[in-house]
Amino acid sequence: MISSGWRVVAWWLVAGGLAGLPPADAATTNLVHAGGQITVTVTTKQTEIPPLVVTCWPLAAKAVESLVGLPEEPASLTIRLREPPSFGRRLGTFWQEEVFAIQHGDVIEIYAEKDPLKLSFRLAHELCHWVVAQRYPAQLPLWLDEGLAQMAGDAAAQTAARVHKQSLLRPEPLKLSGNLLTLRELTALTTYPAGRHRVAAFYWQAEALTRHLHQRLGAKEFAEYLTLLGTPTPPTWQAPLRERWYFSDDDFAWLDERLHPQPAGGTP
Ligand SMILES: [Zn+2]
Repeated sequence: MISSGWRVVAWWLVAGGLAGLPPADAATTNLVHAGGQITVTVTTKQTEIPPLVVTCWPLAAKAVESLVGLPEEPASLTIRLREPPSFGRRLGTFWQEEVFAIQHGDVIEIYAEKDPLKLSFRLAHELCHWVVAQRYPAQLPLWLDEGLAQMAGDAAAQTAARVHKQSLLRPEPLKLSGNLLTLRELTALTTYPAGRHRVAAFYWQAEALTRHLHQRLGAKEFAEYLTLLGTPTPPTWQAPLRERWYFSDDDFAWLDERLHPQPAGGTP
């Protein structure tokens, strides 16, 4: 999840208390990516940085770079590690990262997970928000920003699964079918929906829409699409698709269908 301007309010509703803790860092380490295009200072209040953070970092950074590129100028951020939330707060939030991590400005606050798949996912998710904010300061639509972050998280977790010889399981959110939005509703959102199940469905649908657009356009054209939407006075999300890539009403209807769970074997 991202925290900037009007989006911060929704975040506080679901995850209040993560940010704002007094920094009393006891250990730090520095990480780089792409020859110093991204430099990171990792801090923790514990006596040492968990080695898993260091091994998951390149997976997350590579996944983000593959999807959205790098900041155009060398840029630095801080990753603050926190203690995991209580068991009660974990219930029902398996892949929804809203209580586990947040990015604000040049800081990512994240709970130091011991599961490399989840840690890679959340690192990549938040790093993706940060890189998107660097590249497109005018801000992408909410569904696209979160959809990209989810895709980056998924790619990093897939790599972590291969490295650690595990299987990545991402079950559909609970009560998904009762909380689905239409394509028009999803793309009109400027704040996160209220309610845990609605938020979970939003993430699922944002990822599905972003992923299908990415597949339809291909990586190179998709990057052009992001550039078009990231301008200070962007067109509607549909306009470039119609004008430049000749999407028809049928194409948008097809996208709308992709926002529903597909039969067994289908991809979200
Ligand atoms: Zn996010």
